[in-house]
Amino acid sequence: MAEEKFDACVVGAGPAGIAAALTLARGGADVIVLERGSAPGTKNVMGGILYRKMLQDLVPDFWKEAPIERPIAEEQAWLTSGENVVKLGFRSEAFAKEPYNSFSVLRARFDPWFAQQAEKAGAMLINETTVLDVIKEDGQVVGVRTDRKEGDVYADVVIAGDGAISWLSKKAGLQPDRPFPAEHLVVGCKEVIELPREVIEQRFNLKDNAGMSIELFGDVLRGNAGYAFLYTNKESLSLGLGVMLNDLMRTKQKPYELLDVLKAHPAVAPLIKDGEVREYAAKMIPEGGYPALPHLYGPGILVAGDAAMMTNAAHREGSNLAMEAGKLAGRAVLEAKARRDFSAASLARYEKLLEQSFVLKDLRRYRKLPHFIARSGEMLTVYPAMANMLAERFLTVSGMPKGEEQLAMLKEMLRMRPLPRLIGDTWRALRAML
Ligand SMILES: Cc1cc2nc3c(=O)[nH]c(=O)nc-3n(C[C@H](O)[C@H](O)[C@H](O)COP(=O)(O)OP(=O)(O)OC[C@H]3O[C@@H](n4cnc5c(N)ncnc54)[C@H](O)[C@@H]3O)c2cc1C
Repeated sequence: MAEEKFDACVVGAGPAGIAAALTLARGGADVIVLERGSAPGTKNVMGGILYRKMLQDLVPDFWKEAPIERPIAEEQAWLTSGENVVKLGFRSEAFAKEPYNSFSVLRARFDPWFAQQAEKAGAMLINETTVLDVIKEDGQVVGVRTDRKEGDVYADVVIAGDGAISWLSKKAGLQPDRPFPAEHLVVGCKEVIELPREVIEQRFNLKDNAGMSIELFGDVLRGNAGYAFLYTNKESLSLGLGVMLNDLMRTKQKPYELLDVLKAHPAVAPLIKDGEVREYAAKMIPEGGYPALPHLYGPGILVAGDAAMMTNAAHREGSNLAMEAGKLAGRAVLEAKARRDFSAASLARYEKLLEQSFVLKDLRRYRKLPHFIARSGEMLTVYPAMANMLAERFLTVSGMPKGEEQLAMLKEMLRMRPLPRLIGDTWRALRAML
């Protein structure tokens, strides 16, 4: 690669990087995207539910051409306890019709398409190129050093969209120079299990290509704080889980062992029976939230998406925050270009735009949630167990008069979680969410 100068150099062809590149290219900027994978999507992991709104703002009616799997029409939450499950669900016919609410996606198919939109708009995408460091002149980031021979790339602004555990933002001095704390990280892993379309539709009671998402909580995660998921694709299922790294270190369990427990659960096993595992992938999810946000800008550099800890665990959102932040980063750079000023003061506009958007508003609102989740492994087992106990006893005809049965249920509930702890848990949960 010859030494070249661009208006912007985007590192990472994930949702954040591509949203930034698309915005910049459409705004007439000369933009290069550097991706370490052999193609976009080869290094990316997502459950993956993609919400419509943020992508629609970038590519109107994208579902008509994008390689999405199924629009999600039914969402379920399963509370597991032993072999029992309490199932909660919501089904919407509106979610199954245009313009839809969310979709299941496979990133290996989705990301190349999304990157093509940026290329069509004029962005240059270079794969198989790992960025090793930023290049600084008098404290100003002026480009990046890559692993290619003569591979320095110069640009007025670098946008770090390099995902979780962003070394680039550290090298640029936007993150503290210390290991990422385990309690800010969730270990995610998933399998893509292939099954014929008609088998999936029959097992999940689906029609007209509509899809279902199931999230599982409770002792299926063996005391680790987190959740498991099962999403329907066209001709495969995405089955996986995300658990706090600090819990895995405490319980000394391996993510793939937890995945085996999940696959053997009597409510899950029949749904995946005879399926062929086509893919296994694992990746970190940065869930430190608002208190763990890095500096979002510096002289000649911005950081967006997972690289900036922009995920919302309460709403299963990551890719849409990444797209919104990428778009706003692109917009801030276009404004800086018009001013010909790429100083930190000029790029501070990015943070202002994020402040006005749902990205920082939501992260701030849920600022206590990551701390709460990091300590909720036990609660995430106790309450699903309680829900199952209550459901089982309510539905069992024991011959005991109902009044006595209800009293026994209440006593059992308080044995599982004494009243002061119940009140404390409710208070902490409300404080974390409101
Ligand atoms: C198991 C799991 C389930 C998830 N489920 C969901 C879900 O259902 N819905 C949802 O919205 N989000 C989900 N997420 C989160 C979601 O995947 C991320 O929030 C989203 O991908 C963030 O996009 P990004 O562009 O910031 O980062 P990424 O998608 O991680 O993209 C970063 C890119 O940068 C590249 N890169 C990294 N370092 C370099 C380098 N030095 N040089 C060049 N290129 C580099 C990588 O190869 C990658 O392509 C899930 C995550 C996991 C792990």
